[in-house]
Amino acid sequence: MAKFGPYEDDNIFAKILRGELPCEKVYEDQHVLAFNDINPQAPIHVLVIPKGPYVSMDDFTEKASDEEIGAFFRAVGKVARQLELAEPGYRLLANHGTDGMQEVPHLHIHIFGGRKLGPMLKTA
Ligand code: AMP
Repeated sequence: MAKFGPYEDDNIFAKILRGELPCEKVYEDQHVLAFNDINPQAPIHVLVIPKGPYVSMDDFTEKASDEEIGAFFRAVGKVARQLELAEPGYRLLANHGTDGMQEVPHLHIHIFGGRKLGPMLKTA
């Protein structure tokens, strides 16, 4: 389960950003890294993360600069286009906190695509 205190440098995505763990990189710029999810839930499943130390969407939208926020959302669209998902379509997801069942406490947006994705939420 996610830890929702201050940002902790030992999370998996921080280690990927520091090059201590490998990733299948899809896109990188000054503010953003995107890589394939290790346990894909769709034919295409990419994670887009900011390079800054933000726990979640809540943390990011409160503390990040306008430049970081702009760069992050521009990159999400850019990655989706790079993956040729703009036309068939895709789904974005950002889990936050306990009810959102966030597992890794470094903000990430999931991009899912490559097939019809079905209903937005399964009934529990
Ligand atoms: P969330 O539940 O939104 O926090 O999603 C965390 C995601 O990170 C899951 O989809 C995991 O499969 C993915 N994940 C965990 N470790 C790695 C890793 N080393 N490389 C790529 N994806 C990972």
